[in-house]
Amino acid sequence: MILDWIFPPLCVHCDSKTKSSRFPLCKTCLTDLEKISPEERCPKCFSAKENSFCQRCHDYPLGLQGVAATFEHLGAASTLLKEWKVCSRPALVKGLAAWMAVQFLELQWPPPDLIVPIPQTILQAMTFGFNPPQLLAQELSKILNVPTRSLLKKNWGYPPQARLLWEDRKKLSHRAFEWRGKEDISDKTILLVDDLIGTGATLKAAAFRLREGFPKAIYGLVLCI
Ligand SMILES: [Zn+2]
Ligand SMILES: [Zn+2]
Repeated sequence: MILDWIFPPLCVHCDSKTKSSRFPLCKTCLTDLEKISPEERCPKCFSAKENSFCQRCHDYPLGLQGVAATFEHLGAASTLLKEWKVCSRPALVKGLAAWMAVQFLELQWPPPDLIVPIPQTILQAMTFGFNPPQLLAQELSKILNVPTRSLLKKNWGYPPQARLLWEDRKKLSHRAFEWRGKEDISDKTILLVDDLIGTGATLKAAAFRLREGFPKAIYGLVLCI
């Protein structure tokens, strides 16, 4: 591409030259981009596993059948997420969702009937200009051939998790979300999708609300932890 010749494409993480503007990472950063192995994590909350007993699940159960992330929110993965969200490189969503799909297949969870993105407030959508969980859900939906539905609505008065202190995040009330209740989800397996997980309070609150519809199981898959 002539533009690549005039403006040599640089790796978004380390600023080294990349092969083409179609590749956001250089070869070294791409090699360093390591997907988390689910075997090393608690299947219920995805915290690092030391033995079969998970203290975190005991102290703060999330109430989902399974939770998993694809990458640690560090290094090149963190840069890709930032580039996508803050610097608005919309094309990155396809690659990020593909990595999530690979993680989903490795987890060997039952195939979901519906993919549900974690909803954002209007303010969050205005900040980024788009809705990251919804875009990830839509791409995953195409890869896994599962329909996506916006079954939840974020209520006013609940600030984004990132603005809260760690301990306050855990106290996120299930009232943060409203179940739209327009679709019969009884006996359905639901896959909640988000871009980032911290304490797990958002997934916990969303799952609590969805249980009003008596789904068969709820899983949560996120991009970074
Ligand atoms: Zn690089
Ligand atoms: Zn756990």
